[in-house]
Amino acid sequence: MSFDVVDVQGTEIRIIGSDDCALVLSDKIVQGTVYSFSGSGGIRHSNQAYTPFEATWEIQANKGMEFTALDEDAMFPRIVLAKTSILSACQKERDSFVDVVGIVIWIGTITVTSRDSGTFVKKRTLCLGDDSGHSVDLCLWDLKAEEEGSYIQERIDSGVQPIICVKGGKVSDYNGKSLSAIGVSTILIELEMEAVADLREWMTLYYNVTNFIHLSTSSSRQIVSCTTTLSEISNIVIATVKEMKTDEFYYNACINVVNARQCGKKTTQTADGWFCSYCNIVSANMEFKYALKMCIEDSSSHMWAIAFQEATQEIVGMSAKELATMRDENYPAFSLLIDGIRSKIYKFKIWSKLEKYQDMEKLRFYILGLDT
Ligand SMILES: [Zn+2]
Repeated sequence: MSFDVVDVQGTEIRIIGSDDCALVLSDKIVQGTVYSFSGSGGIRHSNQAYTPFEATWEIQANKGMEFTALDEDAMFPRIVLAKTSILSACQKERDSFVDVVGIVIWIGTITVTSRDSGTFVKKRTLCLGDDSGHSVDLCLWDLKAEEEGSYIQERIDSGVQPIICVKGGKVSDYNGKSLSAIGVSTILIELEMEAVADLREWMTLYYNVTNFIHLSTSSSRQIVSCTTTLSEISNIVIATVKEMKTDEFYYNACINVVNARQCGKKTTQTADGWFCSYCNIVSANMEFKYALKMCIEDSSSHMWAIAFQEATQEIVGMSAKELATMRDENYPAFSLLIDGIRSKIYKFKIWSKLEKYQDMEKLRFYILGLDT
């Protein structure tokens, strides 16, 4: 039995207990608790093939080793990550350990598969995507398939797409490329830390317009992404704005906060306020958010694309509310501003997505922002 500990400086080491000592330890040690360790224990060189972090030594605990649980202390890091993107994780060699932070796009059910040794093992696959625009299968084994897997499923069932940290995931060549969460791997779900907050912010902006390129060749690939080439186009386009739909360039967004981020879905006005069918509540207020349809053109062609909040704000230089007020109260100034936008050349970041609408597939273009 072994467990990995981290001190207040973020240095990690593994403590290993065998036989009787293992039983005592597995009974008493609770993940996430702060302990002080003292007493006898040997030290030996760490085996890097089984250790998901850089360490020269590991501690061999014996029965005389004492440990005391201390009060929770925010000074201790909950997890230390040598974070890498999903894309670069999958470029590493087989059996490398990687730390990734990703959004759970989908999770499967528990299946039982047999090991080479003839014993059976529980397995559960989920798809993890991140801001590299790539996604991969992560296999949870044994207890992780049941415990972490069930918790993730619960979160998804309640309408949340959890962001998880995987420390010490193992790179595998199974199904192209995939990651494995094994005994020494740690999975923490919806942890409050910077890397998670950053990804959540990215998710708010781009998740719905991202067509993840799935790096595993399993059947989950179909679930995650359309595999046609056209749907994966992401480009920088140098173009001018030919036309803008200035009659309807914003929508009334829901201001309700769900899982620490604004819902932002379209609301409809009722006698009592603004109704969001997604949150199923009526709010007294709403927020003007951009959804600007633009026709952009270069020397070869033109196309219609839609720009949402951040992208439009970047192009227009003011908020949707300010622009709406300007249109209603000072139309000449509004006109001048629109003409100004039409006279410039932009480097647009474009994302395209193949969308199904009434059984018809249509390629839609999104302006993600300007390339600066
Ligand atoms: Zn809402």
